[in-house]
Amino acid sequence: MHADERAQDRILYRLEGLTKVYGEGPGAVHALRGVSATVSAAAMIVLLGPSGSGKSTLLNIVGGLDRATDGHAWFRGLDLTCCDEDELTEYRRRSVGFVFQFYNLIASLTARENVSLITEITDDPMNPAEALALVGLQDRLDHFPAQLSGGEQQRVAIARAIAKKPEVLLCDEPTGALDSETGTRVLGAIDTINRELGTTTLVITHNAVIADMADEVMLFGDGRIVETRRNAVRRPPAELKW
Ligand code: ADP
Repeated sequence: MHADERAQDRILYRLEGLTKVYGEGPGAVHALRGVSATVSAAAMIVLLGPSGSGKSTLLNIVGGLDRATDGHAWFRGLDLTCCDEDELTEYRRRSVGFVFQFYNLIASLTARENVSLITEITDDPMNPAEALALVGLQDRLDHFPAQLSGGEQQRVAIARAIAKKPEVLLCDEPTGALDSETGTRVLGAIDTINRELGTTTLVITHNAVIADMADEVMLFGDGRIVETRRNAVRRPPAELKW
């Protein structure tokens, strides 16, 4: 196999001219204005940019939650912009774990039970206790959300997202509701998963400090990627302060 073929194998996503317009006519909002990019398998990518610059729109299309207006978003051989609904649902269920700013845990279930909700409907999942240990919550398995801090609840949400062993972890402002110290622990959990499981990870933030933990930073502005930067070294999240 040639080296350039191996490089092709390592590309997980290929985005070409990705465009999203909400609404029509004079009130139309151009959320993405032709974004082209590639994402390598196992990479840690930070999507950085101000509010309204199109980061969530891109993540939602890449995660199969929304459709583009134009352009292409390939996940290996699957074009997410034009595959049928069943293929998109299967892709989302099998291949993608989501983490959002708010944790959406079920209050009446323990940490272990919240994760089990997903593992019970997945082929070949991780053991819930194993997923919770990966995010440092091995001693909190039987605690309810109300007995956990915000950062711990977010780590339960991360364990829930990765327990089905997705190839991709998509995180939309995972530390948006957290202070610096708690937020860095959450980012530490995401970093550990990326390193230990090789899960390709995209993290949205508007906080420039967080970009230092990435292999690659996509800088967003007004519906475009205005710059892509590779970090020579990834800073451990524990060293980040904001
Ligand atoms: P970011 O994640 O960078 O804050 P978004 O992708 O959420 O940016 O939003 C990009 C633009 O698209 C914004 O102007 C936002 O108001 C608009 N937008 C996002 N979702 C919708 C929607 N469902 N309907 C209409 N406009 C939307």
